[in-house]
Amino acid sequence: MKVTVLTAFPEFLDSFLTTSIVGRAVERGLIDVKAVNLRDFSEGNYHQIDDYSFGGKGGMTIMPQVLERALASVRTNPEAKVLFPTPTGAVLTQDLVESLAQEKELIVICGHYEGLDERFVRECVDLEYSIGDYVLTGGEIPAMTLIDALSRLVPGVVGKELSVTDDSFYNGMLDTPHYTRPAVWHGQEVPEVLTSGNDAQIEKYRKRTAAFLTLSRRPDLLSRAGVMDYLEDEVYLGLAVSPHEPTLACDLAQIAETAQAYGVARVIAAPQQREDFDALRDALSECPEIKCVPSVRRMTEWAERKKHAPLLVIAAEAQPGIPWLEAKRRMIETSGPVLILFGAQPQRENVIAMRPQQTTGGELPRTALVAATLDRFFGSR
Ligand code: SAM
Repeated sequence: MKVTVLTAFPEFLDSFLTTSIVGRAVERGLIDVKAVNLRDFSEGNYHQIDDYSFGGKGGMTIMPQVLERALASVRTNPEAKVLFPTPTGAVLTQDLVESLAQEKELIVICGHYEGLDERFVRECVDLEYSIGDYVLTGGEIPAMTLIDALSRLVPGVVGKELSVTDDSFYNGMLDTPHYTRPAVWHGQEVPEVLTSGNDAQIEKYRKRTAAFLTLSRRPDLLSRAGVMDYLEDEVYLGLAVSPHEPTLACDLAQIAETAQAYGVARVIAAPQQREDFDALRDALSECPEIKCVPSVRRMTEWAERKKHAPLLVIAAEAQPGIPWLEAKRRMIETSGPVLILFGAQPQRENVIAMRPQQTTGGELPRTALVAATLDRFFGSR
């Protein structure tokens, strides 16, 4: 990736481009970053790049003809995206960084004083981004912020020991807290599991702490996160069905495949009428991956007995219900397995009803409804 930064203060970037991870990435040619001085395209004997803002109170704005000349001089690729960091821009998120990482070439134009002439921005800038709701003196730090975040996504820049996929936001969750030696500091011990040497338990602990940190600090992020890896226990999918449906076996085989893809541990089917149990078993005799039980009550009993832990039952199509994001939150908070149930709402405590999927043109077929519901919980962006 190539990034050109147009700035009145190129020296701002000197140590950034020669230090630590970014410095090594530049040195090894993994990213190509250049800072170009806007003053090289200035006007008159005083090398002026800005002028008083019309109607302003004395603030200066960088002139459009200077910006135009600078841009024309650095732009070799007509496809290069032109960016302007500004407090009025779209907030720079990991999503936006990942989408910008797809570009071959970026040109970042740093504002100073009041910013850039608006006519130039309208004519030449593809994206205005902000690094947060505060005002800095210039666009150099926002330019470096973007380059730093982009460089982490370039293969080879960050070593394996700092896997970017475990970092905050990448999977829609915040990162887990980290500890180093000494194991006891000011009387505070490192969580025991981290020194246990049990890799599976350590991984689980890390995922759970990341999920709880996200829930407490940034619940807004949860909508992007697939939560399967962050749950305490297994997820089951339960379906109350009629064995007399002609496409039942085919539908359930498809649902079982979908469920497996999202990491669901078991698909369980029960007849809507208890006396239909034998007929259901016959109908599903060719689907060994689906467990048949005589009733929804037996379904929940099976899940509880298997795990000896409290079971959270989510009734996926019941009314009135809670929003699906709230259901996702409860799923993370629960300490036992989760049963997502379609076609029934069992008579028991600890059942949460989720608002049915909203569509504009009628009801979804069951296979699509199950796939869409699983994707909301377990699919990541
Ligand atoms: N008059 C502008 C406003 O109130 O929106 C502030 C201009 S600021 C003093 C000068 C330059 O710093 C901006 O043109 C921009 O390039 C950069 N800048 C300041 N804060 C920023 C932020 N939060 N995000 C991105 N760029 C910022």
